Amino acid sequence: MHTVTLIPGDGIGPEVTEAMVKVVEATGVDIKFEKVEAGGIVMEREGTPLPEDVFDSIRKNKVAIKGPITTPIGSGFRSVNVSLRQTLNLYACVRPAKSFEGIPSRYENIDLVVIRENTEDIYSGIEFDHGTPEVREIISKIEELSERKIREDSAIGIKPISRFASERIVRFAFDYAVRNRRKKVTAIHKANIMKATDGLFLDSARDIAKEFPGIEFDNRIVDNMCMQLVKKPELYDVIVAPNLFGDIISDLCAGLVGGLGVAPGANIGDELAVFEPVHGSAPKYAGLDKVNPTATILSGVLMLRHLGENEAADRIEKAIAEVFREGKILTYDLGGNAKTSEFTDYVISKIE
Ligand code: NAD
Repeated sequence: MHTVTLIPGDGIGPEVTEAMVKVVEATGVDIKFEKVEAGGIVMEREGTPLPEDVFDSIRKNKVAIKGPITTPIGSGFRSVNVSLRQTLNLYACVRPAKSFEGIPSRYENIDLVVIRENTEDIYSGIEFDHGTPEVREIISKIEELSERKIREDSAIGIKPISRFASERIVRFAFDYAVRNRRKKVTAIHKANIMKATDGLFLDSARDIAKEFPGIEFDNRIVDNMCMQLVKKPELYDVIVAPNLFGDIISDLCAGLVGGLGVAPGANIGDELAVFEPVHGSAPKYAGLDKVNPTATILSGVLMLRHLGENEAADRIEKAIAEVFREGKILTYDLGGNAKTSEFTDYVISKIE
């Protein structure tokens, strides 16, 4: 039996995770969900949005699945999602983008996977506010070392890119390509401008690529990649990127296949894995039984594959594909008017 940590989250999180649990359980797979709370719900009660029992449960079970969690803008709290990824060293963010027949989209037959480095880059959270003594000290040190002027009213963010983390994520991408019978890995960067940081990422990618002669390797500058993905997405397969570019490219790829409602994700480390939809907590739709649970159900499919339950995963994927192909019972974002619960029950009725 598998025991998996379940974090329902905020906003629409509880509705979409409930849908996922129902669908996974409908396959008859031997799984127990251990529920722990994180986010706004526990914030008021425990004074932190991420209590220790959340970490304890994930460390014990090794696998978790979560709904989205609201990050209050400008408050003292770091994003719960970023904290989870960093504390648990979930260094690889995996986001497949696959077309389903019947889902309205400008493109057909898209089958891409974005693998994003999750722990460093400009998202590492090392920032210094404008006008503080710290930023003044940093500015004067940088000016001394680089002989460049920085405006004194600047805020400063730090972009660490290490060879260690770059090699680790690129190796993960190639391993993923081998395991999933993919043919090509493309590294994304802006090494023409950020020669030290992105240059190191690209160098590391080239080195690791030599260890995998059976997989084609190429690289693209991020701005060109955005255009290429819109014009010729069929040329790409597995895409590996540092944190910021990976974040942006993942959403772009979600847009190629019908949007956030159908985009699943996983955050994976050497020992632990946390699965979650790409979308956020969409607070304006919370409690309305209205949003699309597919992204979370498909995150459950990724989780089942991670657990080795490929048969159950295939059955759910087939059921969802069938529901989309029919196009009768769809949520609002895909042009229908079915409620979350109706859509979920319909998917369950199609599980063979
Ligand atoms: P969002 O993804 O929550 O919502 C943007 C819009 O996308 C929604 O208004 C809705 O129109 C649509 N949408 C999202 N999910 C949908 C679904 N399942 N079905 C149908 N339509 C859907 O993005 P946001 O408004 O930028 O963020 C809201 C909050 O979520 C913020 O606090 C943000 O920090 C947080 N967030 C959390 C995560 C996470 O937990 N991993 C990820 C992204 C954003």
